[in-house]
Amino acid sequence: MNMLKRFIPQFVFLGIICIIAAFGYVKDDIIGVNAVPLNLKTVIIDAGHGGFDGGASAADGTVEKDINLQISQKICAMLRLNGYNVIMTRNEDTGTEDDESQAIARRKKSDLSNRLQIMKDNPDAVFVSIHLNKFTTSAANGAQVFYSKNYKESYTLANSVQKSIVSHIQPENTRVIKQGTDSTYLLKNAAVPAIIVECGFLSNKNELQKLKNDDYQTQMAFAITYGIIDYLK
Ligand SMILES: [Zn+2]
Repeated sequence: MNMLKRFIPQFVFLGIICIIAAFGYVKDDIIGVNAVPLNLKTVIIDAGHGGFDGGASAADGTVEKDINLQISQKICAMLRLNGYNVIMTRNEDTGTEDDESQAIARRKKSDLSNRLQIMKDNPDAVFVSIHLNKFTTSAANGAQVFYSKNYKESYTLANSVQKSIVSHIQPENTRVIKQGTDSTYLLKNAAVPAIIVECGFLSNKNELQKLKNDDYQTQMAFAITYGIIDYLK
């Protein structure tokens, strides 16, 4: 209940944006000019892994790819509700590789290069990749955002999303945003402002239970969406 109460101002804020957006369309129709959406920005939401590539897995068999997709679909819905164009790199349990008959390493390479191509095809977009973390010690927990060094806007976007997650759902989280290393292909080669959100640790028992919970996924999606919109404004 307390958690719900904390979200009320944000729901009101998003509701007002929806009403303004709706009013904008109606007004354009009435005066007969071309309808221009309020938000022309495109956000690419990248649900990490998929299909042959499960990503990290938890002790109970939960695989990262499934939760990544569930959170991504919620972010997609919230952004669209607010008038943004959203491109999903995948919308089901599949990879994006060209040839499924290839060896795993080749499929992985093809999968990542296709995700990168979506950035290249949408130079005005921002790119938000959703992943989950895993660590050798089970104590590690909390979300953390990584940014591409290619565009300085990536840093600002990462900051906005990390701040939103901490203020909305993880007040105890002291993690700071980090520049992605060269081993992170999509951030290293990013063609637009790009971040990876590691939403939490599959290796932490409590966090795993939360990440599997639909309500918590909605809260996480909301916090990420709020951070993206706050940056785009
Ligand atoms: Zn991952």
